[in-house]
Amino acid sequence: MDDNENLASRLAEKLPAEILALLRVASAEAAARAWRIYLVGGTVRDIVLDRTGFDLDLSVEGDAIGLANAIAASPNDVTVHHRFNTARVKWGGHHIDLARSREETYTRPGALPTVRPGHIEKDLFRRDFTINAMAVSLNLNDWGRLIDELGGRKDIRQGLIRVIHPKSFVDDATRIWRAVRYEQRLGFCIEPETLKLIDRDRQMLRTITADRLRYELDCILREAFPEKVFRRADDLGLLATWHPSLKGDTWLSEACAKARSPTETPHPDIYLALLAWRLTASQKEEFIASLRFTKAQTRVLRDSETISRNAEKLASPQAKPSSVFAALHGLSGDALTAAKCAMGSDTARLNIDRFENEWRRISSILTGEDLKRLGVSQGPDLKWVLEKLRDLRLDGVISSRGQEETFVLDWLNCKP
Ligand code: ATP
Repeated sequence: MDDNENLASRLAEKLPAEILALLRVASAEAAARAWRIYLVGGTVRDIVLDRTGFDLDLSVEGDAIGLANAIAASPNDVTVHHRFNTARVKWGGHHIDLARSREETYTRPGALPTVRPGHIEKDLFRRDFTINAMAVSLNLNDWGRLIDELGGRKDIRQGLIRVIHPKSFVDDATRIWRAVRYEQRLGFCIEPETLKLIDRDRQMLRTITADRLRYELDCILREAFPEKVFRRADDLGLLATWHPSLKGDTWLSEACAKARSPTETPHPDIYLALLAWRLTASQKEEFIASLRFTKAQTRVLRDSETISRNAEKLASPQAKPSSVFAALHGLSGDALTAAKCAMGSDTARLNIDRFENEWRRISSILTGEDLKRLGVSQGPDLKWVLEKLRDLRLDGVISSRGQEETFVLDWLNCKP
């Protein structure tokens, strides 16, 4: 791509027609108000890279919220964040984020920046890496012109992740994680000076709140190959900032690869469970507390610990279906999937598979009402008998209604 003309035609080629139509509308509405608008961020990077991404970010030299309301088909399609002066517009199956073009200053490391309106050049300067700091004009007089004052295109050509200024990681150390994520996603290299800055400023990650750190981890877990990020992060000494016992090694890479199938993308929590699989119970609790995981994530991590604790039982060829049931009943499906990728034993994997596909659905033939009619009293007795009958069925000891009734009557007779 050498001139503006090419980028305009690339926009037309890469963006779905309905998105392009919306951008034309936005452009006209902005022009009518003497505002200027630009496509910014990851979409520009991806268009230059010849990839496709439809998460559009617009930077508005003007009132972003006003423009969002002007282009939306209905007010219901607009979500506004007055505090940040941003808005999201739903359009067909897509969405577009609009933000007022701004300049940022950081009063203290890790804190959110102080913001004031600024021209597009300032808006690009506040960004993380050169490859993410390009803009495409969507203005009528120069539609498609690429603004690349920081050398994003050159870095894309050379495959480099480069910060925009040497204080970048001090201002916002989450960019360290972003650098590794983009490097591994795009198959790029972190440029040598930026790498030195990561080394120098790694301890600035301590200035970042748990919620922001967890957000970065969540982004990594949604990558196509999170294990690549974990491996590189381990090499750079970054994994240890989450927990000193985490490892991004070959074991983890192989376990993550097993989680993928040609047709299905694993749920991100499966990768999380694999990352934490080899932590001890107390280390998992430290990890959970340090990153303030969501309830669902915490459950997957704790359930994986339960499975680990039962590893020996699950791997035993003598394990009865009822004891596999007791070990796995009520655990999250993501933890079970992770366990199958993490455990070395074929028997354990088979037992988990059979639990998921057959055993978890088995219950006694007699219902609670049947048991009450036979004379079992409501309460703990009833529960115990129902579970006992299920276990006997699971283990193939009894298989018919008659046998269940006989068992219950015998039990009632023997009961003191
Ligand atoms: P992805 O493909 O991962 O969604 P993206 O570039 O769209 O990539 P977002 O996290 O949606 O990533 O951010 C949008 C843009 O905002 C980025 O391209 C970057 O310019 C800027 N940005 C995001 N986070 C930061 C940050 N911590 N510091 C500076 N700029 C950032």
